[in-house]
Amino acid sequence: MGGEAAYAQKRANRVRPSSDTVLLNANEFPEGPPQVSVEAMSRCLNRTNRYHDEEMDQLGAVIARQENLQPDQILIGCGSSEVLHCAVDAFTSPTRPLITTLPSYELPVDMTTALGNQVIKLPMTASWAADVKKMAEAADKAKGGLIYLVNPNNPTSSITPKADIAWLVNNLPANTVALIDEAYIHFSTAPDLASAVPFVRDNKNVIVARTFSKIYGMAGLRVGFTCARADITAKLGVFRNNTIALTGVVAAKAALESPKLVTERREKMGRVRADVCSWLDAHGLSFIPPHANFMMMDVKRDVRGVITAMQEKGVAVGRPFPPLDQMLRVTIGSDEDMARFKQAFAQVMSV
Ligand code: PLP
Repeated sequence: MGGEAAYAQKRANRVRPSSDTVLLNANEFPEGPPQVSVEAMSRCLNRTNRYHDEEMDQLGAVIARQENLQPDQILIGCGSSEVLHCAVDAFTSPTRPLITTLPSYELPVDMTTALGNQVIKLPMTASWAADVKKMAEAADKAKGGLIYLVNPNNPTSSITPKADIAWLVNNLPANTVALIDEAYIHFSTAPDLASAVPFVRDNKNVIVARTFSKIYGMAGLRVGFTCARADITAKLGVFRNNTIALTGVVAAKAALESPKLVTERREKMGRVRADVCSWLDAHGLSFIPPHANFMMMDVKRDVRGVITAMQEKGVAVGRPFPPLDQMLRVTIGSDEDMARFKQAFAQVMSV
């Protein structure tokens, strides 16, 4: 099971959703891979008797070309989970902590903890951005560390402004690497949001992580990658387990070569999300303004009861994200999914 799905399952009172449960708990995209990817996978099936270094290289070359980098600056992994894991292995140590926001995506935190290394969690700002000054201070105090910043952030769906990211990258203390997780970057066109890939081109101590699990609809295919300086990529690469399956390679490549895919999916999701926001407004329910395919709603009571009540009505929603114990994370699904969400949520919230 992939990262989000594993966390969703682990925290859902061990209740396995039934087949008609609406799945709004793991930030997946409601549609699968685009048709071009499905066709590319069908065509490759009878070639899976062979190892596929050449196709791996081709995918790496397409990513490199699109990001204006060199192929040795790209590391492809089994979902971004694997490449995040590589970063924790390579850049945390007993003297070098992981520094992240509270709340944030748990995977690198849990991996760092499992290695016995220290994790420093810092509160977000009042506008739900990462507090980059505090992150840099913490790294400086520790004489180096791995700063993990998710942009847009999971679970808050908020962004850290591009000026703050630029400040962080230009003020990284010695012995410090910034790991910027852009799993959800395709879902927002906010002027204040920008990818950190240009800093890789500028040879900074930056790793950018991306995934095909979200807007590309391929969570079950397990494809992710990092962009980083070649020497950093080499340090990450030694911790990678293996290459990924040929099906994922050809599906990801075909999707990247579909120029309109991301825009069309972003706009489609955006329309559904805007409708949910209007509905919440109309019912006097507040939320953090969203920038990704999920949103954080203020339920003004212990979220655990709300999660269970929604589950009982056939709608699986996000797990608790302490310390935001009164906030509920809901993934944006299809129109039909969100109609079921609204019906159940109105009853649970008595609105
Ligand atoms: N990073 C963030 C912020 C996520 O939310 C997730 C999963 O939801 C991942 C990484 C890992 O995704 P995957 O391993 O499927 O690429």
